[in-house]
Amino acid sequence: MGLLKGKMALITGGSRGIGESIVRKFVSEGAAVAFTYRSSSEKADKIVAELSSAHSKVKAYQSDAADFAQAELLIKSVLEDFDKIDILVNNAGITQDNLLMRMSEEQWDNVINVNLKSVFNLTKHVMRHMMRNRAGSIINMSSVVGVFGNAGQANYAASKAGIIGFTKSVAKEVGSRNIRCNAIAPGFIETDMTEELDDKTKEAFLSGIPMKRLGQGEEVANTCLFLGSDLGSYISGQTISVCGGLNT
Ligand code: NAP
Repeated sequence: MGLLKGKMALITGGSRGIGESIVRKFVSEGAAVAFTYRSSSEKADKIVAELSSAHSKVKAYQSDAADFAQAELLIKSVLEDFDKIDILVNNAGITQDNLLMRMSEEQWDNVINVNLKSVFNLTKHVMRHMMRNRAGSIINMSSVVGVFGNAGQANYAASKAGIIGFTKSVAKEVGSRNIRCNAIAPGFIETDMTEELDDKTKEAFLSGIPMKRLGQGEEVANTCLFLGSDLGSYISGQTISVCGGLNT
């Protein structure tokens, strides 16, 4: 359909799961795509080899989204390679679940740094470029857990709730420059991340989903496409749930 023809997108955590679905969707809609990963270099290389063609430029970068200096270097390298960034999708994320009584400081810090600080790192460094262009769409991957909390995920829920506050604030700061900033709150999506959950947690989630099924990465990617393309041109500061009705 070419909804992203002529646009350039940077997607963090594009080597697996939801991020990989976003990379594939954006390329299929005509965008030039840069994506990051932390350690899955083989997977990243495979995706690049599969999707690169005369019509589509795709490049992968190993970059720890939690690291402020690496994020700065990443934005610089992507701008050198692609000349512009129209869409930033802050998708990289991890879980390190534990009940609060057992949660270590390290588990807290790791999740906050990878999930929340990363969003600050990338958004901060891309902002000057988007301000100069007077255009941009920033999409931050939150979670329904950030909206209603979840026992055993205090660190994760706090990071995802923080993303929602950050998203609204940035939307208010830069809306006048034609830069939009939105969040997506997926429910229970079938990826490596949810594969890690125990059966009891999975059953509890499933029983609460009105649509009685897990979501697919592509269904989240479709929402990114909507927000990243001109279809979402008057939407900013919002959090859109993609959760089969779970957040109802
Ligand atoms: P996933 O399958 O575990 O994939 C995570 C991706 O993030 C991978 O590409 C991984 O790279 C990358 N990543 C992890 N830490 C990173 C870091 N420090 N720097 C750069 N990249 C890093 O996860 P997913 O299920 O697709 O989740 C994607 C996003 O959606 C996350 O923010 C997650 O919190 C959110 N989400 C997921 C669900 C769900 O049900 N799956 C629900 C709500 C929200 P490597 O491959 O190199 O490790």
